[in-house]
Amino acid sequence: MHILDAQTTNFEKYHDTSVARGVDKTFIRLTEEIGEIAKALRNGDRDNLAEEIADGMAWLLTLASLNDVDAQAAYIKKYGTSECFRCHQVRCICPEERNV
Ligand SMILES: [Zn+2]
Repeated sequence: MHILDAQTTNFEKYHDTSVARGVDKTFIRLTEEIGEIAKALRNGDRDNLAEEIADGMAWLLTLASLNDVDAQAAYIKKYGTSECFRCHQVRCICPEERNV
């Protein structure tokens, strides 16, 4: 499954509830999922971590859909080349603080 397939499937499946919830509440749900990822990392529960990452991706894709953003195209535009978009090296040599 490609990112666009996941985004399309997710939005079709949850369209009505996503539209009713809206951008602001969807963003809040995404931030809650990020918190759950943090808890899973702290707990060391890898199964739960994978589940929370999936949840976070689903909420991020929903947020993209609600804002008419093609997440796959956006990702490819910024990260789709074999080189770092900043230092233009195949293996990034940017200082760590620039990688955020
Ligand atoms: Zn770099």
